Amino acid sequence: MAKNYYDILEVSKTATEDEIKKSYRKLARKYHPDVNPGDKEAENKFKELSEAYAVLSDPDKRKEYDSIGHEAFTSSGHGYNFQNMNYEDMRNFNFGGTSFEDLFGDFFGGFSSRTSRSKAKAAKGSDIVYSIKVPFADAVKGTTYELNINRDAQCPSCHGTGGKKTTCSACHGTGMASDGSFFASPCRACSGTGEKVIEPCAKCKSKGYVHINEHIKIKIPAGIDNDSKIRVSGKGNAGENGAPEGDLYIKTTVIDSPVYERNGSDLTINMDIDIFEAALGTKLTVPTPYGAVNLNIPAGVKSGQKLRLKGKGMPVLRKNINGDLYVVINIKAPEKLSEDVKDLLAKAQGLSPKLDRSDIVAKGTI
Ligand SMILES: [Zn+2]
Ligand SMILES: [Zn+2]
Repeated sequence: MAKNYYDILEVSKTATEDEIKKSYRKLARKYHPDVNPGDKEAENKFKELSEAYAVLSDPDKRKEYDSIGHEAFTSSGHGYNFQNMNYEDMRNFNFGGTSFEDLFGDFFGGFSSRTSRSKAKAAKGSDIVYSIKVPFADAVKGTTYELNINRDAQCPSCHGTGGKKTTCSACHGTGMASDGSFFASPCRACSGTGEKVIEPCAKCKSKGYVHINEHIKIKIPAGIDNDSKIRVSGKGNAGENGAPEGDLYIKTTVIDSPVYERNGSDLTINMDIDIFEAALGTKLTVPTPYGAVNLNIPAGVKSGQKLRLKGKGMPVLRKNINGDLYVVINIKAPEKLSEDVKDLLAKAQGLSPKLDRSDIVAKGTI
């Protein structure tokens, strides 16, 4: 007596849909053609499991199968005959909305490893990465760069096809050797492409791409930073068999400013003031990337104090806002004084309250 589908899938007659699926996936994984290449017995077992699963995963078919029994069901023509299926049929089989791809995609890539060798569309061409150094001022204002890049562009004459093509007569365009076997290999006549060039393109000699040196203008947006990547779509290398071109990526390095220290979109500048300015307060001329501004320094400002100039920092990339500019005050004592100034300062010192350091001296003396 022939094995019934429940036995084949190693489940009980009362198994739930989930239990059946789980068991099928486990067993099919063991006998999957990708893990048993060239093994006819495994192939048959895989087909047997798939046929059983095709019936038991369909509630209507399962009901019919249960009521009339294995023999009657399989001879009624309401089931499936997986043993007669070849690779293509299997690949296209649909388990009530679930394909082999969905069932095995997570551990075998479905059957995709084979299909990509056959007629599946070739992937996009490779990307090109180009590094440029951007002066600080250009990073502030944004600019346009012109560069010459070497790349393999899609052949304009044949649009990447390599020439006039016709369907391969050996495989009738399937790209697979048509010996009907489940383990069909790519067609030798067309290397699995399913097509043959009958009139080779003269411009690219059938390669489908031409090496060019292209002049490209690139917009560098304001606010660009180190390792920013600008993508220029379709300016990479041509793909195979007329597939789209990859992209060009411009990687930027911003040259440091001699005066501004950058931290994201904020900038910092150190400004020296003398003791008179610190004591009396002053109006300080501060450079910013957008022109000099006057900044009020209050009398009694501390050394290291940070004053903020809102919105005078770097532009934030692709946003219409700016970071801030921080002015760090550094009080500089005079190094050389004339006798006159010394006298005046001593006089002023006598009139000023003495700085009280007793507390820190007491606390710090051990
Ligand atoms: Zn061409
Ligand atoms: Zn062929």
